[in-house]
Amino acid sequence: MKFVSHQPLFNAACLALAGLTTPAVAQVEYELSFEPGAGGSWSVEASFPDSGGEVMDLWLARWTAGAYHLADFGRFVEMPSAQDAAGTKLPVERVSESHFRIAKGAAERVIVHYRAESISEGVFTRGVIDVESNRIAEDYAYVTPVSLFGFVPELVGEEVVLEVALPAGWRAATALEADEDGRFHAPSYYHFEDSPLLFSADLHTVRFEVDGKPHAVSVHGKGKEETAVIADGCRRIVEATSALMDGLPYSHYHFLFGFTPKSGGSGLEHSFSTLILLPSALDPARAGARALWGIVAHEFFHTWCAERIHVEGLHRPDYTKPFSTGTIWVNEGVTEYFAHHILLHAGLVDRDGFLRALAGSRLSAKGRATSWTDTSRAATHWTEGAGVMDFTSAMYGSGPKVILALDLEMRRITQGERGIVDLLHLLRHEYIDRDRGFPEGAMIGLINDVTEGDLTGFYESYIAGTDYPDLAAALEVIGYSRNRRKIVEVDEPSEDQLRARADFFSIPR
Ligand SMILES: [Zn+2]
Repeated sequence: MKFVSHQPLFNAACLALAGLTTPAVAQVEYELSFEPGAGGSWSVEASFPDSGGEVMDLWLARWTAGAYHLADFGRFVEMPSAQDAAGTKLPVERVSESHFRIAKGAAERVIVHYRAESISEGVFTRGVIDVESNRIAEDYAYVTPVSLFGFVPELVGEEVVLEVALPAGWRAATALEADEDGRFHAPSYYHFEDSPLLFSADLHTVRFEVDGKPHAVSVHGKGKEETAVIADGCRRIVEATSALMDGLPYSHYHFLFGFTPKSGGSGLEHSFSTLILLPSALDPARAGARALWGIVAHEFFHTWCAERIHVEGLHRPDYTKPFSTGTIWVNEGVTEYFAHHILLHAGLVDRDGFLRALAGSRLSAKGRATSWTDTSRAATHWTEGAGVMDFTSAMYGSGPKVILALDLEMRRITQGERGIVDLLHLLRHEYIDRDRGFPEGAMIGLINDVTEGDLTGFYESYIAGTDYPDLAAALEVIGYSRNRRKIVEVDEPSEDQLRARADFFSIPR
């Protein structure tokens, strides 16, 4: 996820792998309909196979991977009704805001119907971020499925089928695969909830391939020519990321953009797509587009970091309980740091712009009020206001600068040979390839493994502690110094500095 603080831009991170399942013996089926316009609401019918036992527990998610805070999406859902396949009514009890219990008896199918409010009115309204939730407007709508579609914990591994009744003339864009009848399919609830849908009466789509993999860019709120400009930038970002990470971790990918008057600038990452909401006034062909490319690079880099490289608790998230981890600094800080590298490799910023953005301003000598790991843990209890500002500042403001200092320190102790990108390649091998998340406290050990050194002091001071590193000193590793806000090359850099600089700016092979 990402927010930009002056005009909150959220880059959130969702997780969830494509849980490959055996052929479904018992699908979960959803039907969605809505009336466009203000005050509209969603109508959801969900049909579940037998989950075993006499009762079925139906949940609305309590949080979203990528946004992390407790959202309790059940508070936007009216009391459901339930019946069996023969139409016999089944009693429903509301156990808590997001938890319903259905006395299903011996029913082999439970069909639930409920209405839900359109949640979002802006970037952060009703305690919920726009991109993690849903909205119905006059000429567009979107839904991040985790905010609307109830699930039964025993059935999250079953195949999901979704049928959407769209208003006349509207189209849907999503990374979910559609069959010839236009029904969307996902191999599991985790894959389904991780695949937002953008609906629009005026949607433009451009397709391209990178590494032989299909990509699509769908845009609501801009014309055909602007969509082509956006797609070109997305393609460059995908190519640069593929080069840096030596491949792309998915079978297909879909960028979903909504340019709307209600957007402030926010994005939420998913494993096969991202939903990015931007102000209508933003022109992708002008200077303001830097905010656009920054958020695209950030959300896209999350396909690696946060979506597939993440702590254990995000690997198969339990949406029935609040979630807290001290590792969101990895998901957000490392991602935002690499977004800068991606923009540089994609030719969307130059080296001066890269250095200025990451190191052009000092980090406060006083340090921060709360350690980065504690700010990560506190994300569970965000509310509008201070919590969001602290999170935004720690993750997207100082965060990438601290990661730059860590990268340079790793390079200093390895004579310029290894940095954070090598850590990501190790994480990929150890965790993605083995289909698991990393343990909560593992990161410093992994950093030490990559460097064959000891960066525990750095970690304790600047990540688990409240101090800030000295960026100007760190830059000397690659032969730069700071002169006021300008980052300049040192006079007569040493061979070590030049070698470390070359590696720092290179695409590893
Ligand atoms: Zn993010």
